[in-house]
Amino acid sequence: MNLVVIGSGYVGLVSGACFSDFGHDVICVDKDESKIGQLRDGGVPIYEPGLDDLVRTGIKSGRLRFTTDVHEAVAGADAVFIAVGTPSRRGDGHADMVYVHAAAQEIAAALTGFTVIVNKSTVPVGTGDEVERIIRQTSPDADFTVVSNPEFLREGAAINDFKRPDRVVIGGDDQRGLAVMREVYRPLVIGRSTVVEMSRRSAELTKYAGNAFLATKIAFINEIADLCEKVGADVLEVAYGIGLDNRIGSKFLHAGPGYGGSCFPKDTLALLKTADDFDTPQRIVEAVVNANDRRKRAMGRKVIDVLDGDVRGRRIAILGLTFKPNTDDMRDAPAIAIVRALQDAGAQVHAHDPVGMEQAKKVLSNVIYHDDPYDAMDSAHAVVIVTEWDSFRALALPRIKSLLLQPVMVDLRNIYSRDIVEAAGLTYYAVGR
Ligand code: NAD
Repeated sequence: MNLVVIGSGYVGLVSGACFSDFGHDVICVDKDESKIGQLRDGGVPIYEPGLDDLVRTGIKSGRLRFTTDVHEAVAGADAVFIAVGTPSRRGDGHADMVYVHAAAQEIAAALTGFTVIVNKSTVPVGTGDEVERIIRQTSPDADFTVVSNPEFLREGAAINDFKRPDRVVIGGDDQRGLAVMREVYRPLVIGRSTVVEMSRRSAELTKYAGNAFLATKIAFINEIADLCEKVGADVLEVAYGIGLDNRIGSKFLHAGPGYGGSCFPKDTLALLKTADDFDTPQRIVEAVVNANDRRKRAMGRKVIDVLDGDVRGRRIAILGLTFKPNTDDMRDAPAIAIVRALQDAGAQVHAHDPVGMEQAKKVLSNVIYHDDPYDAMDSAHAVVIVTEWDSFRALALPRIKSLLLQPVMVDLRNIYSRDIVEAAGLTYYAVGR
């Protein structure tokens, strides 16, 4: 099949590279010329494990190409995937649809023959109708259908998630469109992934409902963690205890500094805006959003409290900046709120992240970055683990003890056991334990 992906970011690039690996002919489009230039040369502008190999293999096979020219790409395509960003709109939290609408307009002008337009971006309910309207208005005679196909991949595990998804959701009722989509995903069906067909609006809402539910699990266990600290329980034990119940499940029950990233914060907000528009309050999601916002900054206060309420002029080492390991994505990372809270209280922040420091420099100021985590800890009054990169799981604790001015470790991801840290002479603070 001839596939086009508009938007070559985390989702578009992974989708395009995986589709070409399935054997489809794929053209990835982006309006960012430097991104496309880098991709053509075999470089990958984002950090995602395994993606560079997949892109290089795709280019070599001739099945994966890159362009900035939507018109040239779309002519003759069987399906065009819209995978552009849908960030929170400044000021009101609605999903900002300008990129999706612009992409629809550009696609419309280039359509030849029957084409399936696929909304892969996370978009509010009714966007399929709007994209259809835009295309119809621009090209009244075009032969097309609009399908919803939300993406559920996780950054850091994106290729595996794309190739072996729990499910693929396809929303639409045009039989020609569905036939094309079945062909696109046929390699996954052979691999026994579940492909679910439903109405377009149900598919659009499935994505938001899924993310809101996962965010709820995280916010829930975080509040249980707070209670654990007060009553002398251990949230790791409680999470394990409840997670063994199949009705609950063990995933997304890791207490920590609150969820961040490019999806949960903006998608929960956008769901609340849709709920407002339809006068159907989503009070559980409202509570989740509020609890999570408060939590990120509260983690900064937790560090300050550990240092007797005074961090003025003190050096704090932050290990991990990205919103989770195995990505360089800093969008809405908890580290941003934590670092700012510490800086507001007068601390000097020294930080290390295995791959996220370049992105972090764009959103954080007055941070001193170190390529080596031990350099960040040298002469610090405390070390704070914010992101659970594997490389932080077996740090040389005696060396840390000798480097720190005060032997304090705050482990916001619960990746250490208290006994081991305390045996090395450090005072250990965790979350919910
Ligand atoms: P991103 O910001 O990494 O990439 C978007 C890309 O689209 C950018 O490179 C931008 O230059 C390009 N673009 C914007 N308008 C364009 C246009 N008119 N023509 C060509 N290119 C254009 O975004 P992302 O993280 O890949 O997210 C894309 C969508 O997928 C969002 O709706 C997001 O919510 C959703 N999603 C993201 C993830 C994730 O983990 N990142 C997971 C599931 C779903």
